[in-house]
Amino acid sequence: MNKMKPLIVANWKCNPTSLRKAKELFEQVVEGVKKEKNVQVVICPPFIYIPTFKQVAGKAVKIGCQDCHWEYHGAFTGEISASMAKDAGCEYIIIGHSERRRYFGETDDVVNKKLKAALEAGILPIFCIGETNEERRAGKTEAVLEGEINGGLEGINADDFSKITIAYEPIWAISDGDPYATKEMPTPENIKKAEVLIKDLVAENYGKKIVGAKIIYGGSVNAANSKSYLKEAGMSGLLVGGASLKAEEFVKIVKNV
Ligand code: PEP
Repeated sequence: MNKMKPLIVANWKCNPTSLRKAKELFEQVVEGVKKEKNVQVVICPPFIYIPTFKQVAGKAVKIGCQDCHWEYHGAFTGEISASMAKDAGCEYIIIGHSERRRYFGETDDVVNKKLKAALEAGILPIFCIGETNEERRAGKTEAVLEGEINGGLEGINADDFSKITIAYEPIWAISDGDPYATKEMPTPENIKKAEVLIKDLVAENYGKKIVGAKIIYGGSVNAANSKSYLKEAGMSGLLVGGASLKAEEFVKIVKNV
C-alpha cells in the first residue's frame, strides 16, 4: 500500500490585501518547497487570486479554496459553487472552518451539503471540526466532535469518505491571526487522544476498515511546534493559518516534515 504523504495546508483566510502581495507570497512558497518530494503542500488563498496562481502552481503546490456554496449554480448572489472552484484549478477545498461556523452561521447541515457538493465536483474536502474553549471546559469535547462528525458526514458513503481529510482544530488553539500569541496549546498527547476519538466516531459510521482516516491538526502551528504534531501526535498533516502568511515560516514547516 502507498504511504500517504503528509498534507500541509495553508489557509490564507482573507489575506493578503493585494494580488501583488499574494503573488509574491505564493511564488516564495513555491520556490521554497519545490524540491520537497515527501509532502503535499496545498495553498488555499482567497478565491480571487486562484486563476493567477493556477498558472504558476506546478506540481509542488496544489491549490485549494476556503469555502463554496452547496448548489451547482443559480440565484445565490455573492456565492461560488464547488464546480466553479474546480474549473478555476482547485483540487482541495476547506469546508466547515470554525470561522465559517462562527461568523456565517454554518450548521452541520450546511457543512454536510457543502461536503457533498465538493465531492460531486471532484474536489478533495478538508472537513474542519473542533470544540470551543467553553465546550472543552464543560467536558463536552466528545459530544461536540460526535455531533459535527455525524452531522457533517450524514449520507456520505465510505467510498466518498475516503476522499475526505478531517482537520481537527480545537478552536481554543486557533491563533486569530497571530501564531505567536501566547495561547494555550494542546499537547501532542491531547491531539493523539482526540485523534483516537475521531477515528472511533468515524468507525461507528463506516466500520473498522476506516482506521486509516486522514486526520490533520490545525491551531497555532508554527515552525517551532509543527514537528511535534506530526511526529509525536502522529497526525497525517497540518492546517496552518497565521504562519502560512510568512513565506519563510511556512517553508520551514514544510521542510520540518
Ligand atoms: C485556522 O484558522 O485554520 C488555523 C489553523 O489558524 P492558525 O494557524 O492561525 O491558528
